[in-house]
Amino acid sequence: MISSDQKKILILGGGFAGISVLRQLQKIFKNNKNVKISLVNEDNFFLFTPMLPEIASGIIHPSDISIPLRTFCKNEKFYQAKVSSIDLKNKLVAITRVFDGKVKVLNYNYLVIALGSTTNYFGNKKIEKNSFTMKTIQDAIAIKSHVIHMMEIADQEDDQTIQEKLMTFVVVGGGFAGVETIGELNDFVKESVKHFYRNINQNNIKMVVVSAKGGILPELDSDIAKKATDSLQKSGIRIIPNTKAVDASNDFVFLGTGESIPCSTLIWTAGVIIDSVVSGLDCEHNMGKIVVDNNLRIPKYENVFVLGDCAAITDTKTGNIYPPTAQHALRESKTVSHNLRTAITGKIL
Ligand SMILES: Cc1cc2nc3c(=O)[nH]c(=O)nc-3n(C[C@H](O)[C@H](O)[C@H](O)COP(=O)(O)OP(=O)(O)OC[C@H]3O[C@@H](n4cnc5c(N)ncnc54)[C@H](O)[C@@H]3O)c2cc1C
Repeated sequence: MISSDQKKILILGGGFAGISVLRQLQKIFKNNKNVKISLVNEDNFFLFTPMLPEIASGIIHPSDISIPLRTFCKNEKFYQAKVSSIDLKNKLVAITRVFDGKVKVLNYNYLVIALGSTTNYFGNKKIEKNSFTMKTIQDAIAIKSHVIHMMEIADQEDDQTIQEKLMTFVVVGGGFAGVETIGELNDFVKESVKHFYRNINQNNIKMVVVSAKGGILPELDSDIAKKATDSLQKSGIRIIPNTKAVDASNDFVFLGTGESIPCSTLIWTAGVIIDSVVSGLDCEHNMGKIVVDNNLRIPKYENVFVLGDCAAITDTKTGNIYPPTAQHALRESKTVSHNLRTAITGKIL
């Protein structure tokens, strides 16, 4: 029986932002039977993305960084489905079931949009075709298989120029994803070659990270970024700052500086884009992200909260949009949960 006092909270996205909101709301509304919470996510597991590069290097197993979403849901309903459209005016969300494509429409009193982001190739089809990315478990496994394959071929290749191309790994993007990926690959390849691939000349191993920004890890304090830069360079990784990758083929990546690097492995982590289900909503956007007010709500729709990678939240000190990081998503989740409590109970703590 549904009471007229009942409030339905619908959380879209079971990543860092969505799960953190869910867990806080569980505590806040533990004894409140009038609050019903539902979660929608296309995968049925939470993915700890910062450790994807360790899957690519084989240090850990996919199950180490994926937690079934149902284990977070105590009394909450979970739908494994793709969010196919959001109707803010009528407070409706259409979801498409992953296993049979059937569409279901959910209503809500309060909506939490935490649908994250996907890889942005900036429309460059040749780069998209000739590169790997690092966003899902499948991406990480594909990179691992490919890297092992490259070492197998290189070990049987006596032409040093070809061997060097096979052993050149270029990561484009100097953010967390790119830096963590090149760091893991560097250790993985160098250790593997040292112990198992004795026909590969260690000097032929080249690790490169290309960053469009002045350096790497712009998300971090400059002192920490400097330490990371020193550490990568000390371990033999070449960092190319202030440079964009503009084109790629099977055998080369071409940089905006005019340099072309022969390589058999290109990994693209240079930007994020927001899915059209979010970027197409009738509200203000910044690069597809939803612009929210100080309470992390959409100004025209005060019952709708947005956080994580798909939210455009301005840092009042710098005027910039906060970068897409798990750390920010977790902090934002506290604000959203607190504001939902206030909106539903009317109590300000
Ligand atoms: C390799 C890598 C390393 C990283 N390292 C760090 C790090 O060290 N530190 C850090 O702070 N950040 C790091 N990040 C960034 C961090 O992962 C993101 O900023 C964070 O995941 C954002 O949280 P979110 O909840 O907004 O999005 P996500 O965690 O991506 O969650 C979004 C969820 O929504 C689901 N979804 C998307 N679209 C739909 C749809 N239409 N229907 C249903 N479900 C959908 C997705 O499946 C996903 O589960 C890293 C990212 C990567 C890729």
